[in-house]
Order: sequence, then structure tokens, then C-alpha cells
Amino acid sequence: MSSKESSGAFQTWMCLICGWVYDEAAGAPDEGIAPGTRWADVPMNWTCPECGARKDDFEMTEI
Ligand SMILES: [Zn+2]
Repeated sequence: MSSKESSGAFQTWMCLICGWVYDEAAGAPDEGIAPGTRWADVPMNWTCPECGARKDDFEMTEI
């Protein structure tokens, strides 16, 4: 088996300002982001629903 598949698994991204977590598998339906939407496919003008931070303020996190 290969060690790590970076393109297959969904990832989670955390807001560094408020700690809100975006899960690619779950998306953010309330914000108009469908489940399964990759972070890279989230619109650049999208902002954190909790604090309004931009995508630049999010960091990939391991769960
Ligand atoms: Zn936030």
C-alpha cells in the first residue's frame, strides 16, 4: 500500500481567528458550500461564518 494519498482523502481546515472548522466532506450547506467541496474550490471571497475571516486565515488541520 502507498503511504499517503493526498488527493483522495478529505481534509479539514480551521479558522485561526475563532477556531471554526471547515470539513471538506461535510461542506458548509448553511453557507452555500455543498458537501464534498474541496477547500481549493471554496470561493476566494468566502469568509468564516463565525468571525468573517478570509480563507487566508484558515490552516489545514489533522483530525
Ligand atoms: Zn473564524
